[in-house]
Amino acid sequence: MMPDSSPLPASSRRKTALIVGAGIGGLSLGIRLQSLGFDTTIVERLDQPGGRAYQKRTADGYVFDMGPTVITVPHFIEELFALERDRGMLAEPDYPASVLAPDARVREGESGGERTRDYVKLVPILPFYRIYFDDGTYFDYDGDPVSTRRQIADLAPEDLAGYERFHADAQAIFERGFLELGYTHFGDMPTMLRVVPDLMRLDAVRTLFSFTSKYFQNPKMRQVFSFETLLVGGNPLSVPAIYAMIHFVEKTWGIHYAMGGTGALVDAFVRKFEELGGTLRLNAGVQEILVTDDRGRPVRRPGGKRVARGLRLESGEELHADIVVSNGDWANTYLKRVPAAARLVNSDVRVKAARQSMSLLVIYFGFRREGPELNLRHHNIILGPRYEELLTEIFGKKVLGRDFSQYLHVPTLTDPTLAPEGHHAAYTLVPVPHNASGLDWTVEGPKLVERVYDFLEDRGYIPNLRERLTHSEFITPDYFEGTLDSYLGNAFGPEPILAQSAYFRPHNRSEDVRNLYMVGAGAQPGGGTPSVMMSAKMTARLIAQDFGIHPSVRDGVPERNTADLAAD
Ligand SMILES: Cc1cc2nc3c(=O)[nH]c(=O)nc-3n(C[C@H](O)[C@H](O)[C@H](O)COP(=O)(O)OP(=O)(O)OC[C@H]3O[C@@H](n4cnc5c(N)ncnc54)[C@H](O)[C@@H]3O)c2cc1C
Repeated sequence: MMPDSSPLPASSRRKTALIVGAGIGGLSLGIRLQSLGFDTTIVERLDQPGGRAYQKRTADGYVFDMGPTVITVPHFIEELFALERDRGMLAEPDYPASVLAPDARVREGESGGERTRDYVKLVPILPFYRIYFDDGTYFDYDGDPVSTRRQIADLAPEDLAGYERFHADAQAIFERGFLELGYTHFGDMPTMLRVVPDLMRLDAVRTLFSFTSKYFQNPKMRQVFSFETLLVGGNPLSVPAIYAMIHFVEKTWGIHYAMGGTGALVDAFVRKFEELGGTLRLNAGVQEILVTDDRGRPVRRPGGKRVARGLRLESGEELHADIVVSNGDWANTYLKRVPAAARLVNSDVRVKAARQSMSLLVIYFGFRREGPELNLRHHNIILGPRYEELLTEIFGKKVLGRDFSQYLHVPTLTDPTLAPEGHHAAYTLVPVPHNASGLDWTVEGPKLVERVYDFLEDRGYIPNLRERLTHSEFITPDYFEGTLDSYLGNAFGPEPILAQSAYFRPHNRSEDVRNLYMVGAGAQPGGGTPSVMMSAKMTARLIAQDFGIHPSVRDGVPERNTADLAAD
């Protein structure tokens, strides 16, 4: 119901919105659309919200976040919790002064903002990552230049000067690419062309690995300063160097954990969305996005004006709304949900030609806490003996290599509530090719799981793991393709190569169908939890513009925020 204090003009009919998918992108946009005065329904195919951030609770007492674990940019989260019904706050600075202050990063205690604390408890994690090399040495990356320099001096003294130059150049990329351009929706070529000179000047169009190789001679340092893109589906050998900004995003605002797991953050977003009057429907798979011509007639062949009218669920039920947004996989949204006769730009040929990100094998396991303390941290990257060759096998050749790298997550080092008393809950994630590989995961999955367990035990990462193991299950690319309905089982949407970034990445406003929008990892700016929250804000801005949302609603600020903003 509309609160009495709503600035919505009395004559306005509330617009309605349907969002397909309750991933972090879909939920973030749901909250934003409620703040823009829409009546929003999110329809989700699964029995729980979260999408990739689905949280699994097992009968034997474990809680596993199935996907994202590294939470960055807490003020993006704070922005969502600060929104109110009919107060969209879209004219506020994307990076207020408080966020850009030198001491903006919270290093201890609670790190969520004031509004966030009403919903979920965020805490900073240090080090950000422990990065193990194949020879057993490691680098604790914590964003602190003093400790970074000390560790470089120990492991690769020849690269100390290079680090200083890398730091300065990555900072310049971060300032231009993230702070100034991060929220730009590249909907047309002129917008894109305007930024090309900057990208050239910053040397941000070469690949990230070749960029880091300019500054670092030592292979370990080249890996430390380039692996992060793998967490958003990017091959360091192919992503543009603009992604060096990730390093700076982490350094500037830290890495955080939601107590109770990322699932607690998802639940908090759902609570906020429902408090603002939104409706979430679970177990409601969408079969088709309903499209007509501009006079409401069925579309039979491509061409002419196309308008999204609503959704047909797998149950046969039809829902109608002023706008439809897909938070589902970009490729499958067009290939499977939008009738071919409604698509000229996003034709089957174009969509299938896009390069998809890699996929993952993820093992969720529980084990007894016994024996010596684990020499692990909350986030561990365990690199194999080969880096460039392995990446080429995963992304290019699409074969399973003789070795692997992994990201091992042990959240019970921070939050013991995720496992029964006396136990750890963990997951380990191994990048693998997506399903264009033709690999049979019913055969390869169990074999790879055994190899990973052997490795963790034999190398002493988790001594006697098999004896201590009390819970084990895993997902493969088939989970991404089947359960999450992602084309070829991609784990992160279209691969973030230069030819699929900015203007060349799927547009958040459909080029084919009016009133149809995309939000989330497949759209601009890209994958990863902070990016999908940015995607939601960018899409909200496009919708506000397209629907002429009254400035008092679009830019309205809740009363309790006015004082804080004035302080900035
Ligand atoms: C294992 C793993 C670890 C990751 N780790 C990190 C990390 O540490 N940090 C980080 O920032 N990022 C990480 N990422 C990336 C991040 O999780 C994603 O980029 C982000 O969560 C994607 O959110 P989204 O809203 O775009 O979509 P999704 O989470 O994919 O949600 C889309 C939703 O749409 C639903 N849907 C699809 N089709 C239909 C349909 N037809 N009808 C109804 N519903 C439908 C799906 O069921 C799903 O719930 C990780 C990803 C994975 C897979």
